Amino acid sequence: MTDASGKSPVFDADIVVIGAGAAGLMSAIHAGRAMHCERSNIVSSMSAPTTTASTTSTTARVVALDGAHRIGIKILVAGGGRCNVTHHAVREQDYAGSTSAAIRRVLSRFTVADCVAFFNQLGVELKQEDTGKLFPVTDDAHTVLNALLEAARTAGVDIRWPQRVQTITPLVDGGFEVVGAWGALRARRVALCSGGKSLPKSGSDGLGLELAQKLGHSVTEHVIPSLVPLVASAQHWVRTLSGLTLEAEVRVVSGTGKRLTSFTNSMLFTHFGLSGPAVLDISRYLMMERTRDAAAALQLSFMPGCSLEQADAWLLEAKAQTVLSRLREKLPERLAKTLLEGAGIASDRTPKQIDRDRRRALAQLMCGAPVEIVGDRGFTHAEVTAGGVPLNEMNLSTMESRKCPGLYMAGEILDVDGRIGGFNFQWAWASGFVAGISMALSLDSFTTLSEAKP
Ligand SMILES: Cc1cc2nc3c(=O)[nH]c(=O)nc-3n(C[C@H](O)[C@H](O)[C@H](O)COP(=O)(O)OP(=O)(O)OC[C@H]3O[C@@H](n4cnc5c(N)ncnc54)[C@H](O)[C@@H]3O)c2cc1C
Repeated sequence: MTDASGKSPVFDADIVVIGAGAAGLMSAIHAGRAMHCERSNIVSSMSAPTTTASTTSTTARVVALDGAHRIGIKILVAGGGRCNVTHHAVREQDYAGSTSAAIRRVLSRFTVADCVAFFNQLGVELKQEDTGKLFPVTDDAHTVLNALLEAARTAGVDIRWPQRVQTITPLVDGGFEVVGAWGALRARRVALCSGGKSLPKSGSDGLGLELAQKLGHSVTEHVIPSLVPLVASAQHWVRTLSGLTLEAEVRVVSGTGKRLTSFTNSMLFTHFGLSGPAVLDISRYLMMERTRDAAAALQLSFMPGCSLEQADAWLLEAKAQTVLSRLREKLPERLAKTLLEGAGIASDRTPKQIDRDRRRALAQLMCGAPVEIVGDRGFTHAEVTAGGVPLNEMNLSTMESRKCPGLYMAGEILDVDGRIGGFNFQWAWASGFVAGISMALSLDSFTTLSEAKP
C-alpha cells in the first residue's frame, strides 16, 4: 500500500468511528476490546472544550469523532432522563424499515440477555418495569452514559469532540481519510454511526446520510420523523382537550377505509394535536403511508377492539341513564361532552331519546373518531428517524458496506426504526456490537465473524 510519493501511507488510527452516540460507543468499545487495546487516552469530562477534550495522539488504534459539543445527549435525554436501555422482549416485529428477516439477523447477534449482561459487567444494573421496559436501577441516564464512556476508556478508545467529519475519502490502496475543520485522519476502517436526523441539536442532523451517499450508498426515498407528535387541523376538537390523557386505540386507515396499523396504549391530547405513546408509535405509519396514499387518515377508538355495532349496542344498554352518564363510565367527562357535541346530542338525553343516525354518529366517534392530521412536529421533536441506508446494502454478518469495502455502519443511520420501549437503543447496541467486533477482527485477519458473541 503506497501513497503518491510511493511511500506507505501512515494511518493515524486503525479504526475511526464517526459519531459517539449509542451505536458509535458500542462499536468503538467492542472494536477496542477485540483488539486487546490497553490504551487509555480518553478524557473523563463529558463537556470539556476542544482544547482539553481532544487528544493530540495520532497513533490510537480506535478513535471516535463526534461533532457535538456535548457527548451522549440522546442517551441523557432518553426515557425522560432515565434512559430506557432496552425491552425485555425484542422482536423484529417491533421495528419498521428494512425487512424483518434482515433486522432479526442483526438483533440475534446481540440479544436482550447480552445487553443486560454487558451493562451489568459495566456496573449498570437494569430493572424491568411492568411495561417490559428496562431502565438502570438508578433511574438516571448518566449512569448509562458514564459507564459507556468508562468502558470506552478502558478499551483504549480515544474520543475526540467537537470534531465534525465533513468528508470521507477512500484511499486508493485501502483505508480512508476523514476530514473536518479540525484536520484530517487516516484510518484503515471507518464506522459511520452518525445517527439519522432526529433531535438535530444533539448533533445528528443527517450529514451522515450524505456521507454514506457520497460513498456509493442509497438512502430510502423518504426519510421522515418517527416517534413524533402529530399536528391536528387548527379547529379540530382534539385541541380543546389539551392535557387530557387516556388509553385509546390509534389506527391508520387507507384512503379506501382499510385498517392498516393500530396501537393501543396511552395517548395525550395537546394544544397542537396528539401525543403520548400510542400516537408516537403510529406516527411513522401514518406519515409513511401518506407518501403513497395522500388520503390515508388517523382514527381514534376510545373503545379498543369494539365495532360500530358493539359501541351502539353498548349505548342502548343504558336504558334510563343519560347518555353523558353512560359515556362517563368509559371516558373522562371533558371528552364525553366533546363527543356528544360532535354528534349534536344534548347530554341530558337517554340513548333511546336520540335518533338512530345521531346515536350511530356518537358510536362512530367512540370507536373510530377521525382526526384530521395536517403534519407532524418534525425532527426537532422526533425520537427517531424512519428511513436511511437500506440494510440490503450491508453485509449483515459484519455490518460492512457492500458498496464500499472497509466502511461499516450501525444505529439509526440505517433504515430501521423501532417502537417506543427501548427498541431503538437495542438496535444501536446490536448493530454497533456487530460493526465494532467485525472491524477489529477484519484487521486481525480473522475470517469467521458471523458467530462472534459478546
Ligand atoms: C428525546 C429522545 C428520547 C429517546 N428515548 C429513547 C429511549 O428511552 N429508548 C430507546 O431505545 N431509544 C430512545 N430514543 C432513540 C435513541 O436515542 C436513538 O435511536 C439512538 O440514540 C440512536 O443511536 P445512534 O448512535 O445511531 O445515533 P445518535 O444517538 O443520534 O448518535 C449519533 C452521533 O453522531 C454524531 N454525528 C453526526 N454526524 C456527525 C459527523 N458528520 N461527524 C461527527 N459526528 C457526527 C452526533 O453528534 C451524535 O452524537 C430517544 C430519542 C430521543 C430524541
